[in-house]
Amino acid sequence: MADNKAVNLTEETARRWLKERGVEIRDIADLVFYLQEKYHKNLSIEECIENVERVLSKREVQNAIITGIQLDVLAEKKMLEEPLQSIIAVDESLYGIDEILAFSIVNVYGSIGFTNYGYVDKQKPGILARLNDKSTGQCHTFLDDIVGAIAAAASSRLAHRAAGGDRG
Ligand SMILES: [Mg+2]
Repeated sequence: MADNKAVNLTEETARRWLKERGVEIRDIADLVFYLQEKYHKNLSIEECIENVERVLSKREVQNAIITGIQLDVLAEKKMLEEPLQSIIAVDESLYGIDEILAFSIVNVYGSIGFTNYGYVDKQKPGILARLNDKSTGQCHTFLDDIVGAIAAAASSRLAHRAAGGDRG
């Protein structure tokens, strides 16, 4: 049962760290609603929450969350070594690994996720605007992409299911 314990610890940690970094399930569900309301008549926020929950229950998503948030937190505490410390602390635009990590989340529900991800990344609605606010002293270099990716994946899941597909 050691494996089972590790799974639970990963999920529990991913969910707790999101919360500790200021991201609630509802914030991500709001992004899903923003992305999907024009395509689904009578879309409810509860449906969005349910799809976010299902994305968060995936191990590969949890792994991306804990890896990205750990790097953000270490950068905030100035505990990384150079040049990585400065690159992550200032959110250098050419770095790109934050986006690569987020793609591992977007990938879970297939290619329409990429369109949704690109869209929220450009528009930065809701929680994404706050995570991108550099004046707070907090470092969310990885977290902003992770949150956008969870919303994009949840949107894809919702769309697949509305179209009659079932991808878990
Ligand atoms: Mg980023």
